[in-house]
Amino acid sequence: MRDTLVLNASFEPLSTVTWNRAVVLVLQDKAVVEMVHPDQRVRAALVDVPVPRVIRLCRYVRVPFRRRAPWSRRGVLVRDQHRCAYCGGRGTTVDHVVPRSQGGADTWLNTVACCAADNHRKADRTPEEAGMPLLRQPFEPTPSDAMLLSLGRGGTEDLPEWLALPAA
Ligand SMILES: [Zn+2]
Repeated sequence: MRDTLVLNASFEPLSTVTWNRAVVLVLQDKAVVEMVHPDQRVRAALVDVPVPRVIRLCRYVRVPFRRRAPWSRRGVLVRDQHRCAYCGGRGTTVDHVVPRSQGGADTWLNTVACCAADNHRKADRTPEEAGMPLLRQPFEPTPSDAMLLSLGRGGTEDLPEWLALPAA
């Protein structure tokens, strides 16, 4: 469910995010709500807020000009939010879906975050061979996707180096 539109501080559309992430960005004072879904509210332990339909970042972010984000291990962990693709636990390693020994490449679509135990268990096998289905399919993040993932995780200091923003 990616149904909240994210605008840059300059009001240009950047990307879409889930409303959960939108609420987090607003609660962290990284974005303001521009429009809400009527009659829908988010209820969690400490908040009861309308579901944002459009949010706008408080700080202007320069989106890298390139369309493709170069692959990196760190980028894969950020993209997958450090969640293991096989068990959903904490993913600290990068697994090749098709193992390198079978010709699998270092690409966004062939790598996922993985916990150390599952990485060891899967070894040099495909998910089918190992009987370990992927909980979700890997995807190639756009620079906007990666930037927003990082914003939700504690600020622009945590941006992957390949998306580092020039000092304002
Ligand atoms: Zn795991």
